[in-house]
Amino acid sequence: MQYKNIMISKPLKAAFIFSIVLFSTCKDDKNFEEKIVMNDTDNVLLQKWKGPYQGLPAFDKMTIADVKDAVETGMELGLKDIETILNNAEAATFENTIVPLEASANTLNHVFTYYGILSSNMSSPEFRNIQGELAPKLSDYNSKISQNEKLFQRVQAVYNASQNNPLPADQQRVVDLTYKGFEMNGANLNAEQKTRYAAINKELSSLYTDFSNNVLHDEENYVTYLNKNQLGGLSESFIKSAAKIAIDKGEDGTYAITNSRSSMDPFLTYSTERKLRKIVWTNYYSRGDNADDYDNNAIITAILKLRKERVGLMGYDNYAQWRLQDRMAKTPERAMDLMMAVWPAAIARVNEEVADMQTVANTSGDRLKIKPWDYRYYAEKVRQKKYDLDSDEVKQYLQLDKLTDAMFYVAGRLFNYKFTPVEEGKVPVFHEDVTVWEVTDKDSGKHIGLWYLDPYAREGKRSGAWATTYRSYTSYKGETNVLASNNSNFVKPAPGESVLVSWDDATTFFHEFGHALHFFSSNVKYPTLNSGVRDYTEFQSQLLERWLSTDEVINQFLVHHETGEPIPASLVEKIKKASTFNQGFETTEYLASALMDMKLHLADPTNIDIDKFERETLAELNMPNELPMRHRTPQFGHVFSGEGYATAYYGYMWADVLTSDASEAFKEAPGGFYDKAVADKLVKYLFAPRNSMDPAEAYRLFRGRDAQIEALMIDRGFPVPVK
Ligand SMILES: [Zn+2]
Repeated sequence: MQYKNIMISKPLKAAFIFSIVLFSTCKDDKNFEEKIVMNDTDNVLLQKWKGPYQGLPAFDKMTIADVKDAVETGMELGLKDIETILNNAEAATFENTIVPLEASANTLNHVFTYYGILSSNMSSPEFRNIQGELAPKLSDYNSKISQNEKLFQRVQAVYNASQNNPLPADQQRVVDLTYKGFEMNGANLNAEQKTRYAAINKELSSLYTDFSNNVLHDEENYVTYLNKNQLGGLSESFIKSAAKIAIDKGEDGTYAITNSRSSMDPFLTYSTERKLRKIVWTNYYSRGDNADDYDNNAIITAILKLRKERVGLMGYDNYAQWRLQDRMAKTPERAMDLMMAVWPAAIARVNEEVADMQTVANTSGDRLKIKPWDYRYYAEKVRQKKYDLDSDEVKQYLQLDKLTDAMFYVAGRLFNYKFTPVEEGKVPVFHEDVTVWEVTDKDSGKHIGLWYLDPYAREGKRSGAWATTYRSYTSYKGETNVLASNNSNFVKPAPGESVLVSWDDATTFFHEFGHALHFFSSNVKYPTLNSGVRDYTEFQSQLLERWLSTDEVINQFLVHHETGEPIPASLVEKIKKASTFNQGFETTEYLASALMDMKLHLADPTNIDIDKFERETLAELNMPNELPMRHRTPQFGHVFSGEGYATAYYGYMWADVLTSDASEAFKEAPGGFYDKAVADKLVKYLFAPRNSMDPAEAYRLFRGRDAQIEALMIDRGFPVPVK
């Protein structure tokens, strides 16, 4: 169960409100491209994707200097596409309105592939300036389309006609989603309201950029440097990489603890230096909250007010109500009900965990009361004592390259995919660390796509792990291949060393690969049908995490990095036994953030003081003092650096109910997690259709019934509620 900084799809696109229509995935529309891509331009970002595999982004040639012109030209061409649709004198039909709308903004979509890399994988102050400059222009562009009355009338005409004469199922779904998208984005507003609506979005887009830049600033500028007497408890590999980071930062001879989760988490788990633990903890949980030029509190208030005003124009009481209507949960109440059904068990478990830790501290003569910067440290001690499980020992069997092979094995068994490394130089990459594999069908050899992996942390790369596509599958203009990527922040090893990762990080690695498989297995006809339903798209990836602990993976791929010996059965037994360990901490830190997200958007933002609201809400929830929210409000990028996860952070748990329940289907099957019949149903109903059918209906086709909460409670070691 992971609540990392995991995001799916193009992270930047999530910042755009009208993502379904404008930023649908890239297409390979030959005629269309000839018409609009300016092949003779010097601007690399605007050039047609060339080379093998149906054409590839020229990541090796992109430059920041080209970005502004490329985005502006892309927007111009996108608007021309819309004009062409509007200039059609014939009555609106699916073919003359919806299809060209699906195919529109092709150049801009291509440009945004580069833009996504430059903002998430290779960011720099220079790029961030350009981003800031472009944000309001992109917002204007969005508004010009989502608020285009004539365009909406044409879409509405197709929609209305389809109410009497339904279209084929996939076309009907595209029309429904498109129409709903317009409606939810203010297409029904009057002229005056539309002007205000556009102004709000413009302002919001700048605030989102400011918010994430502030967090990034605080991540880069609060580094804790240790001297050689302050390394107690830390592992050799951690010390080595901390020394290397210090050298890169010009602090030779010291050891750098950066202000990122991948540094903070292991440091707090192992360091014996309590005072330093407090400093590192405080830096991390104060990101965006330092009462300086980079403080996010005022920005959050402004965002909440503007969001509420915007949905108010359309007659909604609050942002959550507007947001959830096309989600699987449908209403904020249903989402809150689920969270509050689990919450009491989670905080009760925290109290037990703290009591266990206090006992360990007392017995070892540490005279202290457990504070938040002690939680990970003493939890690790309890883990070792209670489960005799040493995370560092487990790490010796978790090598990044073997885990990659393990994922390929799972993809082979469930999806019939084969992954073959692409020779270096054949596919352009944006950094030497990126490697590429070709994905084919194991039996037919049919080409499915390319998988790009960017594994290591670097300056300018955002924290966490995520998956994205550069091109998605569609078949409405001939079949396209899929270009998908996974991105992580593993600490790059010293030369010659294996990358050893924690069990948690291995789980996240599988998680992101689940998103990639979801992209690869798509069989939808139209781009819009690749879009995700936020509380559903985490389900597929969360489910894939389960294969990490299957016997087939354990026995073949979890081998010692030096001896090559498979992980001992006794250690595996301990890992399985310990799987419910620390669930109080994990569930509570996550749920506190998810509840805060929802409550912030249900509240009246008029005079809201974010700091006070956070404190009071946590108090009302009886939040234990010994741990913070996973993402404190001033650094909650999921919710405030765009709209992708706003009132949607609950979605991880919503999806996890499905995950636990779907896992049961495999556990009950004769072939277990590799049962052929269940795997076929998994691909057919839960992966391949993406958003081409209602998720609730897709789930019922897989399971024969709706998901139930019991399996989730059991998986977390919580008491099952009595009905
Ligand atoms: Zn995810």
